[in-house]
Order: sequence, then C-alpha cells, then structure tokens
Amino acid sequence: RPALPAGLLANLNPEQYAAVTLAAEPALILAGAGSGKTRVLTTRIAWLLQTGQIGPGGLMAVTFTNKAAKEMVHRLSTMLPYNVRGMWIGTFHGLCNRFLRAHWKMAGLPQSFQILDSGDTLSAVKRVIKAMKLDEERFVPKQVSWFIASSKDDGKRPKDLPTDDGQARTMVEIYQAYEDQCQREGVVDFAELMLRSYELMRDHPEIREHYQRRFRHILVDEFQDTNRLQYLWLKMFAGTPGALAGREPAAVFAVGDDDQSIYAFRGAQVGNMSDFEREYRVRQVIKLERNYRSFGNILDSANALIAHNSRRLGKNLRTEAGPGEPVRIFESTSDFAEAQWLLEELQQLHRGGMARSETAILYRSNAQSRVIESALFNAGMPYRVYGGLRFFERAEIKHALAYLRLTENPNDDTSFLRVVNFPARGIGARSVELLQDAARASGRSLYQSVGALGGAAGTKLAGFTALVDRLRDATRGLTLREIIERMLDASGLINFYRTEKEGQDRIENLEELVNAAEAFVTIEGFGKDAVALPVDETAPGTIAAPLPGEPEAVAAVDLLPDAETGEILSPLAAFLTHAALEAGDNQAQAGQDAVQLMTVHSAKGLEFDAVFITGLEEGLFPHENSLNSISAGGNEGLEEERRLMYVAITRARQRLYISFSQTRMLHGQTRYNVKSRFFDELPEAALKWITPKQQGFGSGYAQQYQQAWQRGSGPGGMVGAGRNSGWQPAPAAPPSWAAPVPAAMRQSAAKDNGHGLRQGQGVFHTKFGEGVVLTLEGVGADARAQVNFGRHGTKWLALAIAKLTPIE
Ligand code: ATP
Ligand code: MG
Repeated sequence: RPALPAGLLANLNPEQYAAVTLAAEPALILAGAGSGKTRVLTTRIAWLLQTGQIGPGGLMAVTFTNKAAKEMVHRLSTMLPYNVRGMWIGTFHGLCNRFLRAHWKMAGLPQSFQILDSGDTLSAVKRVIKAMKLDEERFVPKQVSWFIASSKDDGKRPKDLPTDDGQARTMVEIYQAYEDQCQREGVVDFAELMLRSYELMRDHPEIREHYQRRFRHILVDEFQDTNRLQYLWLKMFAGTPGALAGREPAAVFAVGDDDQSIYAFRGAQVGNMSDFEREYRVRQVIKLERNYRSFGNILDSANALIAHNSRRLGKNLRTEAGPGEPVRIFESTSDFAEAQWLLEELQQLHRGGMARSETAILYRSNAQSRVIESALFNAGMPYRVYGGLRFFERAEIKHALAYLRLTENPNDDTSFLRVVNFPARGIGARSVELLQDAARASGRSLYQSVGALGGAAGTKLAGFTALVDRLRDATRGLTLREIIERMLDASGLINFYRTEKEGQDRIENLEELVNAAEAFVTIEGFGKDAVALPVDETAPGTIAAPLPGEPEAVAAVDLLPDAETGEILSPLAAFLTHAALEAGDNQAQAGQDAVQLMTVHSAKGLEFDAVFITGLEEGLFPHENSLNSISAGGNEGLEEERRLMYVAITRARQRLYISFSQTRMLHGQTRYNVKSRFFDELPEAALKWITPKQQGFGSGYAQQYQQAWQRGSGPGGMVGAGRNSGWQPAPAAPPSWAAPVPAAMRQSAAKDNGHGLRQGQGVFHTKFGEGVVLTLEGVGADARAQVNFGRHGTKWLALAIAKLTPIE
C-alpha cells in the first residue's frame, strides 16, 4: 500500500480509515447519519489521487445535489495541490449532460442540444396533444408528462410499452409523437438525459469499453435514493462482474443509509443496495457507528425513533460527545404562536453568538413556510428558503395574484399575460402576439384591445376578458377571504391543479393564500371609518388588536385616504401591495448570514448547529397521505415518514427543537391537532418540554389569540370563519365590505354627497385623469366613489379629499 500523505487520514477513526483506504474493489459503506460517510467518500477521492493510484480523469463521483457536488469539489481543492474542477464529480443529470455533450453525434443529437426544465417539458407535451387533436380532458398534459417521465425512468421507450386498450395505445402514441417533436427541435428533458446516455453506453461497445477502462473508481453518495435506471446506468459505466472478458468491473464505492431512504415515492429503490451487494459480490460492507455530528440526547432520540421501523438493515449510532442539551419540545396554541416563538428563540441564539446560517427551520410541507416567513420577514430577520421558492414567489401563487390584480385592474398587462392562457383555454402564443400588436398600435392595454381582434382568437380572448369582468362583478363587496375563494374557483386554478399528479402541494399553497389574506388583516368599514381586526400583530397595515377592556374596533391608519390624491386602498389592493412587498428582494442577499428554511427532504446530507423541526402533528408529520399506504409488508408510508423524521433529527449538531401546534390553518381551515405519534417514540429522558410562559407569553398577540380562540367555537370543530372568529366587534351598521350596499342607499348617498356625482358620470382627477364613476357610497365627509380610470385601473376615492371634476 502506498505511503499515506501526512494529515489526510490523521483524523479518521479505524472504520473510516479502513473505508477510505480500501483496495480497488466494490464496497458498500452502510452507515447512519453523521457517521462521516460523505467525509469518507471525499477523503477517499483525495487519497486515491494523492497516492497516485489514479489520475483526476480516472474516477467519477456522483452526488445527490449540485450543492453537494460543489461542496465536494471545494473540499477536494483544499486537500489537493492541483485543480480538481475538471473532474467527473456531479449529479446524475449533470454527468449525463456532460457525457452527451461529448458524444452528441452518436447520441443522435445536435451539438447544441437544449435541456427542457419541467415547465418547458409540460408545454412541449401540450403542443403534442394539440397537434394530435386530442382532448386535453382525457389526456391531461401533466399526467401524460408524468407517464412519459416515469416510462423513461423505467428505461422504457414507446415500443416497450403495452398497448392493449385504446387509452393506453393513445398514451404511447403521444409519447412517440413527443419524442419525435423533441428530436426535431433538438431538445431533451431530464429523464431523457439519463435514458439517452444509458442507451448510448448499452448500444455502443466501443464507447462502453472506453469509459469502463477509463473510470476505475466510481463513488456514489446517498446510494439508498437511486432509482432503477440510475442503477442500470451505473452498471453500464462500471461494467457488470462476469460479463467483462478478462476485466474487472470498476471499484464502485457505494455509500448510503437505508434509514434515510426518503424518495421511494419517486421510484427510488433501497433494493438497489442489496442488488449491488449481490451482483458485485461485495466482500466489504463497512459499517460506521460513531456519530460525529450530534450530542447524545439528539442521537438517542434518532435511534429510539427509527427503532420503530420494521424493515431495517440494522445498525446503531453512538457518540462520544456526551449528552449535551436536552431536546426541547414546544407546544403552541397556533401556528402563529409557533412562528413567533421560533423568531424569539432564533433571536436569542443569534444574540448568544450563533451564526444565523447555522440555524435551520425544517418543515414537512412547503405550505408551512408562509407563516414562518411572515414572522421572520416582519422582524427583519434575514432568511433563505432552500429547495423551494418563497411563498409569494411560487408559480401557483403568482398565478393567483395575477387573477386578483386583474380584478383590481384589468389593464395590468403583466398579470394579463401571465394567466390569459393559464389554465389552458386554447389561446395560443400567436393570438397573444396579435393582441400585443393591436395594443401597441392603439396605445391601449391588452384587456382593452381584445375587441380589435376577430376570428376564433378574438372569441377566445373575449371569453377571457368576460371571465375577468365576471370575477370583478361577483367579488364586489365581498370580504378578502371570499374574494380569493371565488377567484380560485372561477379562474379554474384549483381544478387545474387537482388534475395534476403532483398538484396537491400547489393546492395546499393556494389554500394557504386564503389564510395569508385572513392573517393580513380583516377590514371592515371604509376610509377613516375602516377598522382593522388584526390577526397578526406583525403584519403591515394593521394596528394592535383591541386588548381586553379597550375599545374593540381600532382605526386602520394605513387605510386612510392618501392625503394628496384621496385614494383609499381596498382591502384587496392593500393585500396585493403587501404580497408584492413580501415577494420582493427581501430574501437574504447572497453571502448574508441568514436563517435557513427548507423542507425535510431538501435537508438531506446537511448539518446545522441548531435545528427546529416544526409542525409535529398527526396528519402533517406523519403526513396524512402516508397513513393509508398499508401493504403486505406493514405500513410502508408511515415507515418512510419515520425515516424522514430521522433525517430531520440527525441534522442537528448542538440543539434540537421540535414543535407542534394545537391549531393550524391548513387547507383553508383551522385544524385542531393531535400531537404526532412520533413524540411517543422519543426517549423521555432526552426531552425537555417547554411551554409558553403563563398567559403573558411572547408578544401579547399569542395570548390574545388564545383568548379569542377560547371565546370562539373551541376545540372539537372547525372554525369556518377563520382564526379571528372570536374577535368580531358588533358594528352598528352592516360593514360596507361585508355586504354590498343596497342600491337605494347608494342612491341616497349620491344625492347627499354634495359633490353632484352620480353613477356612470365622467370625472377628471388631477393624477389619474379621466374616469367613470362606478359606485358611490357614504355621506358627507365619509362619501366615497369607486372610479374606473382606464389605464390607471379602478380606484376608491375619498370625495372630501379627491378633487374630482365632473365632465359630461
Ligand atoms: P449524512 O448521513 O447525514 O449524510 P454523513 O454520514 O455523510 O451524514 P458527514 O456529513 O460526512 O456524515 O459527517 C458528519 C460530520 O461529522 C461532519 O461535520 C464531519 O466533518 C464530521 N466528522 C466525520 N468524521 C469525523 C472524524 N473522524 N473526526 C471529526 N469529525 C468527523
Ligand atoms: Mg452525507
């Protein structure tokens, strides 16, 4: 064995040392979280290179994420005296791309082939369905796209698929037509990268032999999450034992943890581990049992939890770090109180000297991040969301906001373009171009130019503007919550995502938007009479909630008319402003020290000093979808959830917090939660239950909310009216937002307002120009008018302030 470079191996324990310095033969490192698997893999690469057993071109390493690949390259460059950037280290997709770039001709691709992301893929599928004149209702694009991707993931081309019945035959025909189209256009989707390179290796012995001779070492991290095609692909590069005339396969160094297999729902197969062990006649299965990441109480919790899974390859973790601090369990009254507590705890950790980037908040579902983001955002705490977009930047939320904006202002061309054909209503890119030309020529908005277009395109576009008009009329006078609910339904967004294979998450986010609106502020009344019933004291545009004993209704100053123009924001407009602000560039700048927010799935492989796992409630974590997948082997779904929880726990180095909340707004309703069964599986001795300080907990808000909640309908049922049901002051007159003002009242207002305005009247405003009065409400100093200012949109104006000149 070559001499060991000084330093490189100094800090390894005997098992790690053995793994790093294994002879060149297939090996499986099977070890729990934080035991140094990734470190061993990286060190082995450095060792192989530094001892001259292999050149940088002679090995390939596969990681799970680009982030991990980057980190590995970075670590290697600190260990080695030369440039490692050109090495074959990357994700499966990244390496496939590289491979196909080198062999484009043989792969039958143009030299500059383009890669389709999932959005591009879907629109490509749609075009095919359209060109084949098929019914999108029967052949739902998203489902077809899923079908094509999973066929490819199984290594299947159209000719390999069954075509027994009509539907199946047509699906296969679409798949074929889609392939033809991609080929014509010189593009490949993600699954194609994998399948195409696999086939190229399979069908070209000379290429196969080249690579099999070249890569004598292949190292794979997170092996438990590889799918079937990825395993077959690896076998192509490594060579299958016995099938190689007189040659040995590459030394495949597979590293994994069966307890961290969390992608079964996407086709990952833990079975690849046992197949690998058998097919490659692995003589070396190395187990690493010492954990270097976490303190004892954290590790005990992880071990005790995962012991409840039945099908395990069996291993345990120990640490020499001592018990450390107990795992803190926090029970809150609401998701808001939970977020407030997170914030305060994070601030304390930060004050105590912990970098924000060393603190992570993990959640099971993306939709959970919204309330947390809101708390951090409002407190000015920098944060970064990984493996998912921030709430207001998610595509489905942007679509929904676009509909809401059009309701406020149909001339908002950006929103118009975003949703004119989303969900698909047969308006093609060509029609939209024609419309844009017409709008440019006349200097009007897209909405206003629809009438200029004839033919089928004109009819379809007119259908869309009619939808916008209907939506505006139907939502006039409704509460914010009702407006959003109406919009979600009428726009077709909810229905659209319902037909999507992976739409559930998006539906949850859309329903969360209803909560966001509710939490933003509940407003009743108008102008200076407007009262805010704040449900989130940190939300902008609100005043403190009425404390017990104080007047119940408080003026909402931010909703006062603009001193100059007299404009009053409607609750919807105020909410949209808030949404735009939150979606802005307030996310932590690159390099800024920021709290890390991510789903448990995207936390795989990472570690932090302090970790908060939130929402430990039955139905959320474990997720309700997992609870009914009971198969012959036991409850597979639940076991995967438990592995997920194991991954979450083992991310923490020093401090671990687990929280659950008695109530949570999810799917548009308040849910009364039972705490997660996982609590019963944690060792009591390692835990410390912390509960809110008596009454005065946190920022007063939690307490108020709790009281409101107690005054409301109480546990055991749903509170349909939302979280503020206990708050409602009893205004003497029906609030104007809650119910449309009867026509008779409007008439009298029109007479008494002293401005001589009437409905349908043309008016001139110094800032907004000419407009038409749509609605008149209120009397005297409170009189207000809703005016359509064309390009400037529809606005509410306080007539006492706004200078409106009647024009005829
Ligand atoms: P996971 O399963 O979560 O991916 P892992 O097994 O890949 O975990 P690593 O991330 O490689 O574990 O290591 C966990 C932590 O322990 C890292 O901070 C690593 O630097 C440290 N570590 C590993 N081995 C040692 C060692 N021998 N001495 C000191 N620290 C170590
Ligand atoms: Mg790792």
